[in-house]
Amino acid sequence: MTAFSIGALLYEGKAKRVYATQDPDLVAVEYKDDATAFNALKKAQLQGKGALNCRISALLFEALEAAGVPTHYLGVEGSCWMLVRPVAVIPLEVVIRNRAAGSLCREMPIAPGTALEPPLLDLYYKDDAYGDPFLSEARLARLALVTAQQRADLEALAHRVNGVLRPLFAAVGLELVDFKLELGFTADQQLVVADEISPDTCRLWDRATEDASDRILDKDRFRQDLGGVVEAYGEVLKRVQGVCPSPRVYG
Ligand code: UDP
Repeated sequence: MTAFSIGALLYEGKAKRVYATQDPDLVAVEYKDDATAFNALKKAQLQGKGALNCRISALLFEALEAAGVPTHYLGVEGSCWMLVRPVAVIPLEVVIRNRAAGSLCREMPIAPGTALEPPLLDLYYKDDAYGDPFLSEARLARLALVTAQQRADLEALAHRVNGVLRPLFAAVGLELVDFKLELGFTADQQLVVADEISPDTCRLWDRATEDASDRILDKDRFRQDLGGVVEAYGEVLKRVQGVCPSPRVYG
């Protein structure tokens, strides 16, 4: 490690570990090879996944930054480490859907793949103990996690992210079906995109492939036991690298 030294483990999630550093304005995130689905009922080790997600997230955060979308990202170090600004993450999963898939199709009568125009934005309460439930307007108001202005700001930011990532992926033959964001506030109260943006948190379909299983290049390959998970993530990285410069090394 160069310009930073790893301190205490602050948090361990399903796919990442977050560490303090010697600098209170700097946090180090280690991307793990652990894969989980269905609220961690299904688990596996997928060698190379951490490095791929770290690299893909870094490139996407840099693309967002270049488009003026604020994120927590500062740079990468080695293959699995990302340096970020400390952020108070809002316990909401902000999902944008460009096409119907996943829980939307399980919970209401809509055919998988149906185009959603304008894109649908769904909010979920981020808490594994409750199974990350969908939030109604009334429940969101009752939880009072954000003010009305913050809610408007976070929804606008999520749509801006979609506005950057959708054409970026389209340019490399990938369809951004849906994705989940976590947002938070920096010490100076700036609302930023946090966590990661990777095939673990996005649905990505190969636009050139007709077959409904073969076209999947995201975590649905793991959820649905389709195999080739790391290979699919590698394909996403290869394509994204085609339109993004190498990620900057921190320090
Ligand atoms: N997602 C995520 N973390 C979660 C739940 C969902 O990253 O805890 C992502 C998921 O990979 C997909 C999008 O959010 O890209 C929408 O997921 P959905 O609500 O359809 O739920 P799922 O089908 O994953 O249960």
